[in-house]
Amino acid sequence: MAITAPRGTQDFLPEQTADWQILEAKIRQICSLYGFGEIRTPMFESTELFLRGIGETTDVVTKEMYTFNDRGGRSMTLRPENTASVVRAFLEHKLYGEQKVHKFYYMGPMFRHDRPQAGRYRQFTQFGVEEIGSKDPAVDAEIIAMAFQLFRELGLTDLVLHLNSVGCPKCRPVYRQKLLDFFADKRDQLCEDCNERLEKNPLRVLDCKEDGEKMMQMGVPLITDNLCDDCRDHFQKVQAYLTSIGIPFELDPRLVRGLDYYTNTAFEIMYAPLGAQSTVCGGGRYDGLIEEVGGPSTPGIGFAIGMERLLLTLKEQGLLPPVEKKQPVFIVALGDEARAKAFCIQQALREKGIYAEIDLMGRSMKGQMKSANKMDAEYTVIIGEDELASHTAQIRNMATKEQISVPLDGIVAYMETHKKG
Ligand SMILES: [Zn+2]
Ligand SMILES: [Zn+2]
Repeated sequence: MAITAPRGTQDFLPEQTADWQILEAKIRQICSLYGFGEIRTPMFESTELFLRGIGETTDVVTKEMYTFNDRGGRSMTLRPENTASVVRAFLEHKLYGEQKVHKFYYMGPMFRHDRPQAGRYRQFTQFGVEEIGSKDPAVDAEIIAMAFQLFRELGLTDLVLHLNSVGCPKCRPVYRQKLLDFFADKRDQLCEDCNERLEKNPLRVLDCKEDGEKMMQMGVPLITDNLCDDCRDHFQKVQAYLTSIGIPFELDPRLVRGLDYYTNTAFEIMYAPLGAQSTVCGGGRYDGLIEEVGGPSTPGIGFAIGMERLLLTLKEQGLLPPVEKKQPVFIVALGDEARAKAFCIQQALREKGIYAEIDLMGRSMKGQMKSANKMDAEYTVIIGEDELASHTAQIRNMATKEQISVPLDGIVAYMETHKKG
């Protein structure tokens, strides 16, 4: 049986990678505009990093990680996301020693053993940023603005920002208790999932797709009504910054992230034409994460964007520009001697930065002319027997059909002055 790519993975052939490169170039441009530098971390890390950095109770860690023992018997995991690795690198290189804001971005494959479905893969690609070192609410607003600018410049304009605060280790336990008290006599009205969450991670009950609306009607206490002074102040300032630069948002008290190291701002950006399940970017503040992974208490915030999904959206909306095809100089040559010459001229052209091709399929003269047309050659250089005898070649401008005779050793110079592409 033929060997196929593993379930949940995919190949990108050159025509498809051209789209990726367009997206990647736009991302790099925006990142440099906002002062973010690229970080590249390993594809696999010690499993322990993800247990601590993502949380042992999360679905990602309990159900979705590609974990294996290496030949030395150490437990390794293919990275299911990149924040934990960035934080590990931040600590390993002692970057906390510098009193400044560190701005990282990454792009690359992540791995989750998820059930494959439309637009979801087991190897998928994320672009994300992490801004580490400052608690300033301007940082929160800055990365949201950055994501907005990226989407807008890609042509996605119908964006909705959902915003919430998840508090801090000071105010959250009080809120958690309020939630538990509220649901104490209502547990039978909630689904199995919710009941499990109340045991393990009460904040996340609000996240329930089934019961979420119902809870709001029941008058469930909301975190945003229970923030401490610092958290309320931070949340208000983030909103003020966003308003000041014209970024519209909706407060969404059901947008929660359950783990202790998440603090303050949580946000999602939806692309409205995709409907309810339209999150194209998710992020938030994690002032407790670096300590959790074993470093000195350091604030941080980040977001991640699934690139497969984004590309699919751009494609569906007709927002990917057509791929620009380079037009070669195609050298048509018949016979061994002419071919040998063609090969040398091809190389000389390339060394001058001019895209050139020759026939590699043993085609007839007519066949080679067809190839030149197919490749949309800007010029065709024809070296037949007569030309060889007179040390010349025919150069044909494929657009104007004009043809002139040029000495063999003048072809490169001719193309240097005439070829446009
Ligand atoms: Zn607080
Ligand atoms: Zn539920």
